[in-house]
Formats: sequence, C-alpha cells, structure tokens
Amino acid sequence: MPYDVVFVDGEFVSSDAARPSVLANVVSYGTGTFEGIRAMWNQERGDLFLLEAPAHYERLERSARILGLRLPYPPADLVAATCELLRRNDVRADSYVRPLLFLAGEQLAVRMHDSGSRLCIPATPMPGDYIDPRGIRCMVSTWRRGTDVAAPNRAKVIGSYVGPALAKTEAIQRGFDEALLLTTDGHVAEATTSNILVRSGDEWATPAATDDILEGITRRQVTELLSEDFGVTVVQRRVHRSELYACDEALLCGTAAMVAPVVEVDGRRVGDGTPGETTLALQRELSSIARRGGDRHHEWTTPVFGTEEEA
Ligand code: PMP
Repeated sequence: MPYDVVFVDGEFVSSDAARPSVLANVVSYGTGTFEGIRAMWNQERGDLFLLEAPAHYERLERSARILGLRLPYPPADLVAATCELLRRNDVRADSYVRPLLFLAGEQLAVRMHDSGSRLCIPATPMPGDYIDPRGIRCMVSTWRRGTDVAAPNRAKVIGSYVGPALAKTEAIQRGFDEALLLTTDGHVAEATTSNILVRSGDEWATPAATDDILEGITRRQVTELLSEDFGVTVVQRRVHRSELYACDEALLCGTAAMVAPVVEVDGRRVGDGTPGETTLALQRELSSIARRGGDRHHEWTTPVFGTEEEA
C-alpha cells in the first residue's frame, strides 16, 4: 500500500485528494515525466536515507526541459520536500519515491503546451533486496527500445514505458525474469527499467548514451565503484547481441533493482551460470552505501530524519 500523504504542487495532501481526473491529458497520452528514488532504512542509525535524490531531481528537470515543461521548484527544494513527505508519513522501512510531472488539464488535444502541469510525489514501500540472490535469467525481447527521433530517450517519459511493459510481460510469459531490448538497428540498449554492463575478460562495457538508453544514475555509481574498488574503467560503446552470449559476467543496475546479476541470456549461461564475484561485491557495496552502512560515499545519501549530526 502506498503511503497516504502525497506532495501535490507544494502541499501535503491525502492520496485521495492527489488523484488526477480521468480526463487528465496524461491519462490518454502519457504526457509527462517521472523519476524513481530509493529511500533505505538503517535500523542501527535509526534513520532513512534517500539515495542520489539531487541527481534524480536534476534529471527530472532535464526531462521536463526536453518535454517543454517547467519543473516548478529547484531540485534542492524538492529534495527537502521529499524528506518532509517521508517524515509526514513516518516512513521507517525501505521505500520508493515516485515524483511525477504531468499534464493534468482536461484538454484532449494532443500537444504539450497550454495544459496545466502538476507535480506529485507519492511514495510506497519497496524492500531493498528483492532480487533473487541466484541471479536473473533474461531474454532478448522481440520488442525494441524506441529511437530518440520518435520520443526522447534521455527523458523519463511516462508514455514511453508501454514498450518496456510489453517486453517485461513477454519475458515473464516465456519463463524468463527480465527482457533485454535492442536498439532499432540491433545493438544492445538496456533492460526494461535498468542498464546493462557486461564483462569479457578484463573489459567491462556498457552501451553508450547515444544507443537509446536512459543514462542511469545507478550505472554511474556502479562505474565509480568499479573504478575505486577494482581499478576498472568501464568502456561506453556499442555492444553486440552476441556479446551477451559470450561474456563472462553481466549485471543490470537501476534504482529499483539496484545491482542484479544476470546468469543466463536466451538459454545460454553467462560465465559459469552463477552470479559473478565482482557483481556480488558491487551489490553488497551499493546496498550498504544506500543505507549509509559504512563510511563511503555519504555524499550519495540524504538523511530524512537527521538523527545524526551531519559531518
Ligand atoms: N533505463 C530505464 C528505461 C529506466 O527506467 C531506468 C530506471 N530509472 C534505468 C535505465 C536506470 O536508471 P537509474 O539507475 O537512474 O534508476
């Protein structure tokens, strides 16, 4: 069940009052943009931590700009509002925050302009470690990632998630855990809501930003951790489908899943078919950093209750 209090255009209201009209432009056309931010509970510290909240609101601002919408508050104010929202809901469990900026007006013309936008921030419980520890099995979807000339891929556009939703359902119905989407010209793009990294020998590679991916914030974190902990420089380049079948290790990364080991693609084992050592280390490290479990990367997290003095 989502938490009851929702931030709507500067006020904290009950979720009933936050509902858009069924005639809202976004309901018909998906005209809007959104984000997903993790909030992780640390029992020892007695605090909840937002992971990379400023970066998510900065991406929301860029998404809005691409769509010709205006984010009505600066990212820093929205981070503060999100902390207040979680305090008002007294959230003391791993959760997920879902900022949405969408056309709420009831004009039914297909256009981005002159239809009042609304900013809502609901939150819902979501356990931090829900990925199967044995790793996940993927298929290359028959659906492809949309091209940036049809709808902007750099923006997290609400309507653009129909493709990933179809791909996910196809994968589940065929007995897999997740779908991998190729670009329209057949290169690896990403999974339905996460980015992919593959290791072949010593090389870690990930599709370039121009290969129709959403540039993930978790991907940036994983890239930093690979550099700091393993001295690895991740190469951003085109990745062939056949590399998925031949690689030694693969992982998916995104805000919801965090780091997920891929153990199989289209029935071929990745490496020896068990989660890669480096992937497992990254998974542990990011999960710990996300709830401020140690001394590393405190700049990636924001305390919600502020039970400790900020250094
Ligand atoms: N690609 C897509 C299509 C996504 O929806 C997401 C989730 N936001 C990602 C990649 C991963 O991005 P992030 O790490 O910023 O959550």
